[in-house]
Amino acid sequence: MRTWNRILTAALLGSALIASSAAAQQTADSQPAAQPTAPDAPQTAPPTQPANMPATQPAATAPAANAAPAATAPAALPTTVAPATMDQVVNLFIEREHGLIKMLSNRTPVVETYLQNLTNDPQLGPVPNEDHYFLGRMDMGEVVDRKDYLKEEDKGFQTRLMGGFNKLFKTQYQPLGFSWMVYADRTDFDREHYDFRYVRREFLGDVRCLVFDVTPKKTAGRGRFLGRLWVEDQDFNIVRLNGTYYPAPRNSFFFHMDSWRLNLIPGYWVPAYIYSEEGDFSAGVKNKTAFKAQTRIWGYDLKKGSKDDELTQIRVDSVKDDSPTAQDASPLQAEREWQQQAEDNVVERLTRAGLLAPEGDVDHILQTVVNNLQVTNNIDLPRPVRTRVLLTAPLETFSVGNTIVISRGLIDVLPDEASLAAVLSHELAHIVLGHNLGSKFAFNDRMLFSDEGTYQNLGFKHIPEEETAADKKAVELLKNSPYAQKLDNVGLFLKALQQRATSLSALLTTHLGNPLNEGGTISRLSALATLGPALDNTKLDQIAALPLGGRVKINPWDDKAEMVKTAPVAITSARDKMPFEVTPFYPRLARYGASLTPNAQPTTAANSNTGN
Ligand SMILES: [Zn+2]
Repeated sequence: MRTWNRILTAALLGSALIASSAAAQQTADSQPAAQPTAPDAPQTAPPTQPANMPATQPAATAPAANAAPAATAPAALPTTVAPATMDQVVNLFIEREHGLIKMLSNRTPVVETYLQNLTNDPQLGPVPNEDHYFLGRMDMGEVVDRKDYLKEEDKGFQTRLMGGFNKLFKTQYQPLGFSWMVYADRTDFDREHYDFRYVRREFLGDVRCLVFDVTPKKTAGRGRFLGRLWVEDQDFNIVRLNGTYYPAPRNSFFFHMDSWRLNLIPGYWVPAYIYSEEGDFSAGVKNKTAFKAQTRIWGYDLKKGSKDDELTQIRVDSVKDDSPTAQDASPLQAEREWQQQAEDNVVERLTRAGLLAPEGDVDHILQTVVNNLQVTNNIDLPRPVRTRVLLTAPLETFSVGNTIVISRGLIDVLPDEASLAAVLSHELAHIVLGHNLGSKFAFNDRMLFSDEGTYQNLGFKHIPEEETAADKKAVELLKNSPYAQKLDNVGLFLKALQQRATSLSALLTTHLGNPLNEGGTISRLSALATLGPALDNTKLDQIAALPLGGRVKINPWDDKAEMVKTAPVAITSARDKMPFEVTPFYPRLARYGASLTPNAQPTTAANSNTGN
């Protein structure tokens, strides 16, 4: 706990600073009647105009939002009269916030937090020296709660460290842990507890917003939201929250958060990204302990996992009865059918647990790369190789039957297509060598577990001999492929990974597949690690690995993954490279249906160094 105590002090100092400026704001906070009018408020609108949201459901069949089928978006809240004053705007966004809390109260999205503790490097600035990873389902009902996917044993040091931490949140916040800023205030977001002061208008991405400072009233009690809100100017939903909670009880702290929402369904903006950061590396500051953390929320549209539900959900797609005269399966055909059945079961189960993205755009890219390897190596398999994206951050790949799975985090940090080909080639090698795992999952009873039990019930780790053989075969495949001339980049990536291997052990802890490292040494594709130039962090044109979050974005509502489209930003110092690092979120906000890609694009500060 010593580490955290030091962080606590730092964070308290931060809160204290904010508190004094907030006190200054409060004096100017008496909500004068002559507030500026809302920019888009049609002053001439008849006061009784219902200003409905686009009718998404016929009135006769529009029950409460919660009763909408899970596969469809809930009915939008009806908008009230267009506001004429900022006071009315405040009333509207308070009402909207309560509507969002109600709409999400039967949801249990996946919540992932990846945290890097920082130390100061004279050359590179703050760099990670230790990391922690949390993955769970968040119950957004009466009391926001979460269940973890990771076993206690897996968490090791993190459990001790964050156990006390979580408990702190449990006793002092309604929303827990790193996910507490999904709402400003789960229970008491109203005028009795808060003062609201209009600041200005501002665009966030394509969305015009009204900005408000929010301060808890003196009588509001401890742990109240203190900070800033961005409210979009059509339906007056909160789209971003930035601040902390105040005042902190003794012996505890609240860190600072920047929380973003996306308009993924009509009428609602759902919490998607939360960035947390603490620490001060300026001269004279004694306390050098600091961290930055990304929390991502997805899987809003997943079904709540009750036992009954799971029993009715199990399907077996692959067992076909083609025709009454179908030939009997040969023993080999039977074996293949069996493996296909296991593969389909696992892919379906992982998707339902909110861990795999449904088949989509990213898979087309992955499959093109796999296809390049196959064609140039004359690999002809009885069944096609498929790919899927694991939605989580830790760097891992695994294969189930002919399906290659690669994690979002790993796709993010790979510098170029050759490196992507390299990590995929290892799994393709397993498939080519017939290292098929997981046929036991053809038995459906093995799919009957709670979503939180996924990591205890599924696993696709090979024995060391198969790992060695797959690496050897992978190098062979790569040397025959269009990527043969670019393997220097792969070597560079492996060196960069090696350099951070001990400080990023949580990022390198795999949960379903084999780890890329053994102890502190990167073992995956080690034959390629000597290729390429020496790693030189000061060379600006040497991009060995990218920050997290720069390649793949996930739609938090339906879990679809797609590639991020960002404009290049020049790297101007070694500190811009941030390999494997967490950066703040800055999604380009857009309204639902405003473009072909309705979900906003999360971008990071240094995501454009695509390096190929
Ligand atoms: Zn392997």
